[in-house]
Amino acid sequence: MRIIDDVKLDFKDVLFLPKRSTLASRQQVDLTRRYTFKHSRHSWSGIPIMAANMDGVGTVSMAKALYEQKLFTTLVKSLSNETIHNLLQDVDPQFFAVSTGTGEKDWLRLQSILQENPTIRFICIDVANGYSEHFGNFVEKVRQQYPHHTIIAGNVVTADMTQELILRGADIIKVGIGPGSVCTTRKQTGVGFPQLSAIIECADAAHGLGGHIIADGGCTNPGDVAKAFGAGADFVMLGGMLAGHDEGEGRVIEEHYITSHLNPATNKPTIEVKQFIEFYGMSSATAMEKHHGGVAEYRSSEGKTVRIPYKGPIRATLLDILGGLRSTCTYVGAPTLKQLSKCTTFVRVTQQINNIFS
Ligand code: 5GP
Repeated sequence: MRIIDDVKLDFKDVLFLPKRSTLASRQQVDLTRRYTFKHSRHSWSGIPIMAANMDGVGTVSMAKALYEQKLFTTLVKSLSNETIHNLLQDVDPQFFAVSTGTGEKDWLRLQSILQENPTIRFICIDVANGYSEHFGNFVEKVRQQYPHHTIIAGNVVTADMTQELILRGADIIKVGIGPGSVCTTRKQTGVGFPQLSAIIECADAAHGLGGHIIADGGCTNPGDVAKAFGAGADFVMLGGMLAGHDEGEGRVIEEHYITSHLNPATNKPTIEVKQFIEFYGMSSATAMEKHHGGVAEYRSSEGKTVRIPYKGPIRATLLDILGGLRSTCTYVGAPTLKQLSKCTTFVRVTQQINNIFS
């Protein structure tokens, strides 16, 4: 048994150190990034925030709404060939990825989608555990068949596996095991890695080889998104922060509460209506029932199902995230998102938020 005992950090463990800045306003901050990917040699330009390939997040409506702001969507794995084909009428193929698992059925589905839609550029191959030999072999197989597509692969949390997957053909590595809002991997298995340190270490490893990384999971507010970029992420992927909106295509559930206030007209207790949307992890029992007809006996579910407040259209949330990110850049003196990590000094903290009114 071995223990790594240098400290590994999460978003909550640090804050940005403010620095002298010549920026007069956050409006001057440019969040657009331009990347050329290692294997595909494909050049991409946009705001590098991504919707996760989760039910309620990586939907067709989300892809359309995010594209308006030049943000990216990794589509859920369950979409049909026809739905993806229709999406291409409204969304530039530079702004979404088709997602796939590594099974035989997944491989056939991927080939058929790419054959019928040759303009698609991005393939996201993701599994809960990116350390399996089978996964690496699959990445290599996809790379051989599609030399000019940009391949996203994950999830991993260490430099060695980041490098191995890049050497096997991935352009962008998805980083994060266990930090997600509806993830129970850490509880069920005890496996994981603090997300901020995972980003720092994997970004360093990937950039050394000309690869890129996505910080996937664990962001709970715009400050966390900024910290992920500050730590070196090229893209940041969001699930929970984008869930609960109309574009998730979920059903709004109404719950009625009897309050202690009396209605003066009727003298009866008033009823308060609260609106929710169901959100669940992609390996939760809910997702497995929906997509695979139940939880296989040999595995436990590693995701949970929650009810979150209904938040209306996504636009206000997106503007809030982008506004926060621009503001971080002004605090640290970064005129562009590209410069944010160079301008970042993190301060370790024991408390980051005053909770008196929460
Ligand atoms: P969030 O932004 O909600 O904190 O994290 C989103 C990420 O959580 C997803 O992109 C995916 O990597 C991960 N995730 C989604 N569903 C599950 C699940 O059921 N179990 C686990 N372990 N991770 C999940």
